Amino acid sequence: MPRELMLDEKTAARNMAEIEPKYSSQEAVVEANRCLYCFDAPCIMACPTGIDIPGFIKKISSGNLAGSARTILKSNILGASCARVCPTSVLCEGACVMLDRDELPIKIGRLQRYATDYVFENDVKIFDPPKKKSGKRVALIGGGPASLGCAAELAQLGHDTVIFEKKEHAGGLNTYGIAYYKLTTETSLKEVELVKSLGIEIRTGVEVGKDIQAKELEQEFDAIFIGVGLGHTYKLDIPGEDLPEVVEALEFIEELHVNPLHEVPVGRRVAVIGCGNTAIDAVTQAKRLGAEHAVIIYRRGEKDMPAYAYEYDIAKKDGAEFVFHAVPVEVLGKDGHVVGLKLARTEMGEDGRLNVIPGSEFELPFDMVIKALGQEKMTDMLKGMFPDLELARNGVIQREPATGQTNIPHIFAGGDGANGGSEVVNAVGEGKKAARAIHRMFTGETVEGPVQWTRIGVVNAKPVGSGLDNPIRVPELETTYSAGGK
Ligand SMILES: Cc1cc2nc3c(=O)[nH]c(=O)nc-3n(C[C@H](O)[C@H](O)[C@H](O)COP(=O)(O)OP(=O)(O)OC[C@H]3O[C@@H](n4cnc5c(N)ncnc54)[C@H](O)[C@@H]3O)c2cc1C
Ligand code: SF4
Repeated sequence: MPRELMLDEKTAARNMAEIEPKYSSQEAVVEANRCLYCFDAPCIMACPTGIDIPGFIKKISSGNLAGSARTILKSNILGASCARVCPTSVLCEGACVMLDRDELPIKIGRLQRYATDYVFENDVKIFDPPKKKSGKRVALIGGGPASLGCAAELAQLGHDTVIFEKKEHAGGLNTYGIAYYKLTTETSLKEVELVKSLGIEIRTGVEVGKDIQAKELEQEFDAIFIGVGLGHTYKLDIPGEDLPEVVEALEFIEELHVNPLHEVPVGRRVAVIGCGNTAIDAVTQAKRLGAEHAVIIYRRGEKDMPAYAYEYDIAKKDGAEFVFHAVPVEVLGKDGHVVGLKLARTEMGEDGRLNVIPGSEFELPFDMVIKALGQEKMTDMLKGMFPDLELARNGVIQREPATGQTNIPHIFAGGDGANGGSEVVNAVGEGKKAARAIHRMFTGETVEGPVQWTRIGVVNAKPVGSGLDNPIRVPELETTYSAGGK
């Protein structure tokens, strides 16, 4: 059975509405006033872009919303999308000292959204053009969060930048890949406009390696930043995979960003293969588009799922179903359409390896299968562009993490293509670090980030810098802290 349109326009819009609505001004001020404005704020260290969080919250409580947004956007040009998509419970909010007092953490993400929305809604000008231009030019390959973060920092430091993006719009996965109910296409494109307002040129519809060669960029520009992200979803490599209702999770999510929501067809019984955050996004969106059953198929058990706990909760609340300890062995078809999956049970062997149990096959009826098995690395494309570029064994770009510099001194990299796949805020932070390293290469000057003593700094009796210089995720923070700063 082909995929069907299930919802009218109004229902589709309601189902896909943002899950975290905007604070009213009263709610924002009340929440901001809960903040203790810690001097040694651990939240700053847990933000990979090093935003001065107590600083921007204080400005909300005193009614200075433009100043608050400026504090955020100077550190993180994509502060509006990060406010919506950051996994705050393992980043800034998870590090909030309120948790030590058994109180709810300050809702940093929602306050950040409140301040940045003010700027977009009121057309407030945040940035002035740089005082002097360096005359240096940087090309950025890919127009996702990593390149946008890098270009914004370079532009503020006085360098000219040109972003080359193969798609119709810049923004990368922010524009095309993140669950619609977290981040709308409109918000992402407004952020792209903010980046452009810094004087950054974005050439969309230009694929480097096809429409323009990397060699030409090397001749024309003084440095290059590679922010190409990752590639297609890994294949299942099972019979029936080429049936029309077998789609990649990213293609499915992209359909929601480029078409009217009610015009995106879905199956009545949808199987999603995989159990990471992308699988959760796919299963919840299938349900919200009207699928009667949307089922995650995962080869391991519930406690092994790579998805964040809060994402798992969203899926359960949306009525998603789960089949654990099973792998697909065949996509079943009839008359050229998907009618089900043949699955086999798995178990953990004594050697710690996952085995398929012989003779355990069973069938379940489905009319759509979404693959969410992780994204391939862009190895061939990168080698085609820069034959001498060193790649790590897992296919990501080998680079110095603190600077993004690759083995080719004028080429830098960051974001998913270099870190293997992380969050938007990591991509922005890596782009920003690379920009500062490029600036040092051009001018010999070092740009310092916001440096604060942190709780870890206090334990170690020395300042350890902000999350941009020394990012730490909350599980690491807890380990370091309880181990006495060692
Ligand atoms: C389904 C899904 C859901 C996610 N949800 C979240 C979330 O809720 N929260 C969160 O923080 N993170 C989330 N992420 C992760 C986040 O989207 C990425 O970490 C982030 O987008 C990485 O940014 P990037 O710039 O490295 O790559 P991308 O965003 O992938 O951007 C790379 C860009 O480069 C372009 N490009 C590639 N090759 C070329 C070329 N040869 N020439 C020109 N342009 C090129 C691409 O078209 C693309 O626009 C999610 C990821 C996925 C897949
Ligand atoms: S960018 Fe993300 S991690 Fe940083 S303060 Fe904002 S919500 Fe928290």
